Amino acid sequence: MKRHIQSVLYQLEQKMQKRTLNDVSFCNSSWIVMNGRKLLNLASNNYLGLAGDERLIEAGCQAMRTYGAGATASRLIVGNYELYAKAEAALKNWKKKEAALIFNSGYTANLGIITSLIGRGDIVFSDWLNHASIIDGIRLSGAERYRYYHNDLDHLESLLKQASPRQRKLIVTDSIFSMDGDMAQLEGLVTLKKRYNAILMVDEAHSSGLYGERGEGLIHHFRLQDDVDIQMGTFSKALGSFGAYVVGEQWLIDYLINTMRGFIFTTALPPAVLGTIEKAIEIVQKEEAKRQTLQAHSCYFRDELQKLGFNIGKSMTHIVPIIIGSNEQTVQMSERLQESGIAAVAIRPPTVPEGTSRIRFSLTAALTKEEIDWALERIARVGREMGLIA
Ligand code: PMP
Repeated sequence: MKRHIQSVLYQLEQKMQKRTLNDVSFCNSSWIVMNGRKLLNLASNNYLGLAGDERLIEAGCQAMRTYGAGATASRLIVGNYELYAKAEAALKNWKKKEAALIFNSGYTANLGIITSLIGRGDIVFSDWLNHASIIDGIRLSGAERYRYYHNDLDHLESLLKQASPRQRKLIVTDSIFSMDGDMAQLEGLVTLKKRYNAILMVDEAHSSGLYGERGEGLIHHFRLQDDVDIQMGTFSKALGSFGAYVVGEQWLIDYLINTMRGFIFTTALPPAVLGTIEKAIEIVQKEEAKRQTLQAHSCYFRDELQKLGFNIGKSMTHIVPIIIGSNEQTVQMSERLQESGIAAVAIRPPTVPEGTSRIRFSLTAALTKEEIDWALERIARVGREMGLIA
């Protein structure tokens, strides 16, 4: 029996892309001590540096002192602390929407929202490069899935034409693509959703806090807040905390409260997290200077990498890949960067399509120009030594 289990495990292991967990012992907004080595952190999603902000930390401690360490039950039982009402009120005011709902993570939010809204007999149109949580939600829903080529609205329209007018249709996209750093064509998606009578859902995980006059996100930046039916986002990136949200009309929130299994059957967020969420929503609206710093850093970093001869794909944001192709070279580059003092992760299939393995850099407003120059010099040296650039 034991031998049988070992042989099954061996077979599974052969198919697996092996990953290892890093040991992080210290982290501030720009630097991290990982596996005992001090590194410039170009791998986190702490885009505005808020994760270490004293005001957030204090709000979290205060909430924990008042309400305890854990929520003790799901929201529909006795876990719906008044902290939720405050944070959700702040959220809907910030986003200027009728209603808002907070979830335990972006992953469960996407899984739960999608499976609540669609099922067998319905049809989903999903960008080829959407995040895994969207893909998993669609699979679990049992709806028919059409993947349109990345950002290709003509392809999407040709697929929409094939659907029966009677079928419920959902178009779903990331706002900023997490591995490529490019943007969805939100205006074109709104046009198509109206033309074909579809529901449009946008995941603002990587744009919440960073675009729009008060950091509302990319949807607001393009003034499409009245046209996107389901606006989802996370608190775990630019907002420096944890958890996720959806904003929309009241019917949508009521429907999710009553049907979303990932909302109903899970313990509510810990009070400390809710305290930091409310504070982050308040602070982020005033952080225009940080947003501008991040934009300036991102522009500079992308330009310099391109001048050096690296392929950064279609990045136009703070997420900047160096696309290498080979899995082995990508892992090797990530290791060489770590040896040079930089934390930047190797991203391989299945996270990205075959043949497009890459180093994914993500920038934060907490970095200084000197730190970015310091990193560029090392990235260039590693690139030259590996023969990736001339
Ligand atoms: N959506 C997108 C586009 C993401 O990149 C991520 C995580 N990186 C998620 C959802 C999941 O969010 P969370 O980490 O809060 O579960």
